[in-house]
Amino acid sequence: MIPVTQSYLPPMEEYLHYLNQIWESHQLTNHGPLVVELERKLKEYLGVRHLFLVGNGTIALQIAIRALGLRGEVITTPFSYVATTSSIVWEGCTPVFADIHPRTLCIDPQLVEESITTQTTAILATHVYGIPCHVDELQRIAMKHNLKLIYDAAHTFGARYKGSSLVSYGDVSTLSFHATKIFHTAEGGAIITNNDQVAHQISYMRNFGHKGQEDFWGLGINGKKSELHAAMGLCILPHLAECIAARKQVCGWYDERLAGSTLTRPLIPEGSEYNYAYYPVLFPTEKSLLRVREALNARQIFPRRYFYPSLTSLPYVSAKHCPRSEEISPRVLCLPLYNGLSENEVGLITETIIASL
Ligand SMILES: *Cc1c(COP(=O)(O)O)cnc(C)c1O
Repeated sequence: MIPVTQSYLPPMEEYLHYLNQIWESHQLTNHGPLVVELERKLKEYLGVRHLFLVGNGTIALQIAIRALGLRGEVITTPFSYVATTSSIVWEGCTPVFADIHPRTLCIDPQLVEESITTQTTAILATHVYGIPCHVDELQRIAMKHNLKLIYDAAHTFGARYKGSSLVSYGDVSTLSFHATKIFHTAEGGAIITNNDQVAHQISYMRNFGHKGQEDFWGLGINGKKSELHAAMGLCILPHLAECIAARKQVCGWYDERLAGSTLTRPLIPEGSEYNYAYYPVLFPTEKSLLRVREALNARQIFPRRYFYPSLTSLPYVSAKHCPRSEEISPRVLCLPLYNGLSENEVGLITETIIASL
């Protein structure tokens, strides 16, 4: 069986080393020493001023929306994981979709600008598949119209743009450390900002608003991360370069074997250092995608339709149409990609695709 992805697991002895520390300290959660250590190492790795570990990437988005005090309309992408839109709705704001750029598949800045109304308070964009959004243009628009800019950077760990970590753009960026992501802690996430005041609020919000044991700063929620999860991150971080290199090699095998086929690939803009988070391919038609998927499934190969359907079809949003997202999302398939996928397996996958395209 070849799944679309397989979580990287570090050597078990390395995890046991941290478990021993937990058994000694008896501290399982509440901002323990391993969470503190992982936060420090991630800040250093990403080159950012503030980073808060939280329970998952969705609570990271929700806290970011709260900390920036968003209300009214938030302009967002219809081509992302459902959590990008659901967080906006969950926080009582209204998602307004701006369609995607046909090559990068990230939100199109021109359409963002056209969607701004007097009710708009923010832009929430996704660097989809780890491909950078048009960050300079989005920054310009946000400044001009006095909007907050949040990036759902769940796919971007290890990706850089114009020499900086992709998470350093915008007012706030959020990461997911779910087991399927490049860098993971089984479940987990982080909120990143370079703004001291926003950071101050997040520091209370993620811990019930506690200011000491008996005093409260204000409204908060449980966004905490456990020591067991932090331990997984501490084990994986030293192996990250090796994981990204392994993925790059797999992507190279796909590139070679699919060159000359009718499949196309999203555009990774110049100035990017890509992290090889996903291997999305665009089929000429949805029909060809379904035919190929059936042939792959028959050989126990299970790619995933990321991201399908377009979020414009969610039952709890009253969306305007986004023709590009609605036309592209039925034709996108993410091929299996993980550390340990062999050249032979990539050969089998690509032969099957080409034979039934
Ligand atoms: C994975 C993902 C999330 C949600 O992260 P969780 O850690 O699973 O809550 C949000 N947005 C995008 C784009 C994702 O891929």
